[in-house]
Amino acid sequence: MSAKTRVLVVEDEEPLRLALCDALRAEGFEVLEAADGEAGLALALSHGPEIVLLDLMLPKRDGFSVLRAIREDRLASAVLILSARGEEWDRVQGFEYGADDYVVKPFSTRELLLRMRALLRRTEGEAPGVAAAERKVRFGACEVDFAAYTVTRSGERQGLSRQELELLRVLLANPGKALAREWLLDNAWGQDEFPTTRTVDMHVLKLRKKIEADPESPRHIVTVHGVGYRFER
Ligand code: CA
Repeated sequence: MSAKTRVLVVEDEEPLRLALCDALRAEGFEVLEAADGEAGLALALSHGPEIVLLDLMLPKRDGFSVLRAIREDRLASAVLILSARGEEWDRVQGFEYGADDYVVKPFSTRELLLRMRALLRRTEGEAPGVAAAERKVRFGACEVDFAAYTVTRSGERQGLSRQELELLRVLLANPGKALAREWLLDNAWGQDEFPTTRTVDMHVLKLRKKIEADPESPRHIVTVHGVGYRFER
């Protein structure tokens, strides 16, 4: 893992934050830290870390609000939620808001690092079929900018989370084929993670809102009943 990978830890529980920061520094990360949501968001926007570890119950500004602001600002950072057991954490809502993954406290450093590596590997690697030089890809009324993490449809620009971008990459590389949910999981999600096929559906819903003229009757990401999805350019 690159020694330059920048991680922002937003966690108000001081012993946990300090322990996390120590562990991450020992792994070679450049670590930024914040003890409340306001400071966390400010650091995220000013430093553009590759990955944000985000607690939800935070003083000044809660984690959901920070997450929304990060995505509204089209920041490309991967966001991993640190969720407390028994906390009112709705994972579907979290993914809707643009979280890339989550761990439930108490978690082991090993588990956290595995998930972080999976997120970083996905975002560093290129999907087969989409050349690195092919930064912008057009289909229908859409233009995807893989470097800027945006999709422009009929002149309207929207941000994409890293996971949405990764899924779109895999779909674009395999047009016209029925793609099973499990196959999409294997190819657009990291192997160290344990997402369910429901995760695929949630991300498809989010992508449709951004790329389809009418998300209710999609023309690009078409449902293949009993199988998964088919991408049509
Ligand atoms: Ca907290």
